[in-house]
Amino acid sequence: MSNIATSTWSNWSGNVRATPRQIARPQDEAELGDIIRTGPGPVRIIGSGHSFTPLVASEGTILDLGNFSGLKAHDATRMTATIGAGTPLGQLTQLLHAAGQGLPNMGDIDRQTIGGALGTATHGSGLGLGAYHTQLLKVRIADGRGQIREFSKDSQPEMVQAVGVNLGAFGAMTEVTFQNMPSYRLRRRRRALPLEQVLQDFDSLLRSHRSAEFFVIPFSGHALHLSYDIAEEPAGKHPPEQDEDGLKTLKTLRNVLKRVPWLRRKLIGSALAKVKPEDFVDVWFGAYVSERRTRFNEMEYHLPFEVGAKALREVITVLERDFPEVYFPLEIRSVMADEIWLSPFYRRATCSIAVHHDAAEDPAAFFRAVEPIFRKYDGRPHWGKMHSLTARDFATIYPRFKDAMEVRRDIDPENRFISPYLAKILDV
Ligand SMILES: Cc1cc2nc3c(=O)[nH]c(=O)nc-3n(C[C@H](O)[C@H](O)[C@H](O)COP(=O)(O)OP(=O)(O)OC[C@H]3O[C@@H](n4cnc5c(N)ncnc54)[C@H](O)[C@@H]3O)c2cc1C
Repeated sequence: MSNIATSTWSNWSGNVRATPRQIARPQDEAELGDIIRTGPGPVRIIGSGHSFTPLVASEGTILDLGNFSGLKAHDATRMTATIGAGTPLGQLTQLLHAAGQGLPNMGDIDRQTIGGALGTATHGSGLGLGAYHTQLLKVRIADGRGQIREFSKDSQPEMVQAVGVNLGAFGAMTEVTFQNMPSYRLRRRRRALPLEQVLQDFDSLLRSHRSAEFFVIPFSGHALHLSYDIAEEPAGKHPPEQDEDGLKTLKTLRNVLKRVPWLRRKLIGSALAKVKPEDFVDVWFGAYVSERRTRFNEMEYHLPFEVGAKALREVITVLERDFPEVYFPLEIRSVMADEIWLSPFYRRATCSIAVHHDAAEDPAAFFRAVEPIFRKYDGRPHWGKMHSLTARDFATIYPRFKDAMEVRRDIDPENRFISPYLAKILDV
């Protein structure tokens, strides 16, 4: 029997809440099919609730696919692995490493599930590295009638392109097969740079490493540049994480010096200029993954790579002119173009710019002020992060949007997976 409970649900940052009639945890595909067919609708699927948009919210059924987890099979020659879609990334990294495999890239954290990562086009950084969905070779889903369907890149490449990024609106994924690579080590380096240098050398700082990113520290005139390159050396000592302590200091300075921006800039800027560069080698997931304890809300837009520096400069100008309450760093990454229809990286090498706001404070005015800059530069929002776009906008910024909607209707003709929020962002 599945585990069925009723309770109030909220996402990681607390900005989305719902009171579903049931939160159901099916044991197997047969039970999953029954719940999809007969459970109170809409049926929404949850990964680990780390999205900031109301993708998971439902007043009917929230489906928890935690029982569809673990490594089902792996092929040491082809470097492929079949994984339960409910597997959290933090568990997956261990399982793959033990099998001699590695994910080619990762985002900041490992709390998401594989299903959730594919749901919203979760990504790391690197112009030669795709988001998680580019690893997809095969996917098994329960459709809107509870029937199991399987799509593979070999036999139905278009279907994999249609469902590779799916918002939980193209059925419930139970299993995926990923193309991985042999497990590896990374050399991670971090140094503080003057912001002007970062904006000047933007392209080369992002291009000249396998993976690189910036954290721009507001009101400091500085950014942290992080780079990740394949290492042959053995793993060394991983220095203690400083991100959370750094955030606390930035918040204290914000509280004390909100009205004295010149002093805030001077203090943070001189502290950053003295930050010792960090340089260590670790196993791939040890180098990528950080802890994020301080809760925030986030907006991230994916822009054509070549306009990244220009757009970033405008965002910083607006932030520092009108929003002294912001203390969270901005995160700037690059992502390789791909062929997945609802991927924000569809046929476009990308520069991603993310802005964050303390979860205990209202982000609306700040996000409203920077979103037009992202839109002006033809940005596509991260599906899991805050934005104001609707189906009409998505139809213009995604060339294959209409085709994706046709596939969705075929998979879910009775709109079992469509909540009011999904109806707003998709053409149903
Ligand atoms: C602290 C923090 C750090 C983050 N870092 C990054 C980052 O570095 N890069 C980045 O791109 N994003 C990042 N994100 C955003 C996050 O990766 C995405 O929002 C991701 O979708 C969350 O995964 P989840 O498992 O929590 O999924 P949820 O938020 O629970 O669900 C996301 C979507 O996936 C669908 N879904 C989940 N499982 C399935 C399934 N089995 N079948 C079908 N649909 C399913 C859901 O219905 C929903 O539409 C971060 C978020 C937080 C809070």
